[in-house]
Amino acid sequence: MKRRHFLVTTLLSSGLIIIDQLSTQAASIPDFSNSPFTLGVASGDPQSDRVIIWTRLAPFPLEGGGMPNIRVPVQWKVAKDAKMSEIVGQGTVIATPELGHSVHVDVTQLEANHVYWYQFQVGNYKSAIARTKTLPNPNASVDKVQFAFASCQDWQNGYYVAHKHLADEDLDFVVFLGDYIYERSRDNNAVRQHQGEDCLTLEDYRNRYAQYKSDPNLQASHHRFPWIMTWDDHEVDNNYANLTAEDDQTIEQFKKRRKAAYQAYYEHTPIRVSFQPREDITLYRSFDLGNLGKLMVLDTRQYRSDQPCGDGAKPRCQEAMSETMTLLGTAQEQWLQSQLSDSSASWNIIAQQIMMAQYNLDPRPQQGLFNMDQWDGYVQSRRRLLNFLDDNKISNPVVITGDIHSSWVNNLKLDFDDPRSPTVATEFVATSISSEFPQQYVAAVNLARIANPHVKFFEGTKHGYVRSTLTSESLKSDYRVVSSILDPDASIETLQSFVVKNGQPGV
Ligand code: FE
Ligand code: CA
Repeated sequence: MKRRHFLVTTLLSSGLIIIDQLSTQAASIPDFSNSPFTLGVASGDPQSDRVIIWTRLAPFPLEGGGMPNIRVPVQWKVAKDAKMSEIVGQGTVIATPELGHSVHVDVTQLEANHVYWYQFQVGNYKSAIARTKTLPNPNASVDKVQFAFASCQDWQNGYYVAHKHLADEDLDFVVFLGDYIYERSRDNNAVRQHQGEDCLTLEDYRNRYAQYKSDPNLQASHHRFPWIMTWDDHEVDNNYANLTAEDDQTIEQFKKRRKAAYQAYYEHTPIRVSFQPREDITLYRSFDLGNLGKLMVLDTRQYRSDQPCGDGAKPRCQEAMSETMTLLGTAQEQWLQSQLSDSSASWNIIAQQIMMAQYNLDPRPQQGLFNMDQWDGYVQSRRRLLNFLDDNKISNPVVITGDIHSSWVNNLKLDFDDPRSPTVATEFVATSISSEFPQQYVAAVNLARIANPHVKFFEGTKHGYVRSTLTSESLKSDYRVVSSILDPDASIETLQSFVVKNGQPGV
C-alpha cells in the first residue's frame, strides 16, 4: 500500500525526525511521561474498499490533551488478524496541534465485507489493537446485514453498561445518532460528574470529549465495530438550530461556539469529511449495504429553521405549518431525494436524530400539543418527505431515530390524523445509552397514546440500543435494554422485537 505522503526520514541526536514533503515543518516524537493513547482508537465510515481509522494523542486528556505544540509522526498499520502479523497496509501520518493531535487515516484498497484489525504507534507507545469491518460491494448479493443504533450518552446520568453489552454483539457496524457528549456544566448530584463548566471554547469541548472517551465501555464498543456517526444538538448546545443558540448568545458568539464544537466533533470521531476549520461541516452522506440496503445519514441541526412557536411542547401556531420552515435545508433535502430515487436497494434506511412520527401530547379531541424541536415543528418538511416516499414508490423506507431517550415504534402515515391513511414507512426510535427521560414525560406520553394510534410501542424508563437484522425478507429490530445504568455490572435483555416485512410498510 502506498504511503499518503512521501516521507524523508533522518535520525538526529534528539530522536527520529520525519520531514513531510508537503510541508517543510519537521515532525518529532516528544518524551511522553504517560501513554498518548488514553482515548482509545476508533474506526468508521466503512465502504467496500476502505475505512477511516482514528486516534488522538492525549497523554493528559482532561488538560487539553497535554501534548507539546509540535507536529508528531504517528505510525499506523492494518492487518488481517488480531495478532497484527498479516499486514495489509501501513504508513505514517502527522498529528498536528491545530487538530488537537487527532489523526484520521482513510485506509484504502481493502477487500469488501472483510474483518480487519488496526493499531497506532508513537515512539515506543502502542495503542490497543482494534477490530473493524468493510461493507459488502455495492451491488453484491448479500444475505444479511446486522447493525445496532444508539444515541444520547449523558455521562452524568449513568454508566455506559449498554456499550459493554453492545461490544459483545455480532454486528457489521454501529450507527450513532447524536448526543455523543452533553455540553452542560457539572451536576453535583449526578452519579458521575462532568469536569469543567458549560462548553463554549475549543478547549472546553476537547476536554469534554476526552472525558467521555476515557470510558472503557465506550472504547470497547469503538474497538469492536466501525461506527457511522451523526450529531444532534448536545454536541454544540441544547436545541440549537443552525446559528441560533438555545439561550442568550448572539449569532456572532454562537458562530464561534459552533465552529469550536464542530471542530472538536471532527477531532474525536472517525468520520470521512474533508475538514477545514470553518463554520460548517457537511455530515450528511450515504452507505451501500450490498443490494440489500442503502443507509442515508442526515443532519437535522445544521441547516434547520429556528424551532417554531417558541420551541417546547406547544399547540401548532401558523409558523409550524409554513412551507418556508425547513429541517434539512434545501441542498440536503434535494440530496436525500436523489439518493432515494437512485437507490436500487431493497431497504432504504434513513438514519437521523429527532422523532419523525407525529405525537400529539394532548389526548382531548380536536386539541393539539406537539414537540416543536421534532419533525412535528416542521410539518411541511415531513409532508414533503413522506409524500416523496409514496409518490416514488421507494422500496421499504425505514427511519431510525435517537434524541428522545425512550423506545418507540411508529408507523409513518401520509396523514397522521386519519388512521385509515396509508402507512408509507416505519420508524424505530432507540432509547438512550444513559440519558434521562423524566417520569412525568413517561406519564404524559402514556396518557396521550389514545390520540396516536400509529404509535405501536412506547417504553420510557429503560436504556440501551436497538439491534437490527436486515434480510431480503424482513427487517427485525430487537430493543436491547440494560437492567440498570447505575450498576456497572448490569445485565442486558431483549425487551421486545418488531418485524417489518419486505413490501409491507409498518410493523
Ligand atoms: Fe439526548
Ligand atoms: Ca437531542
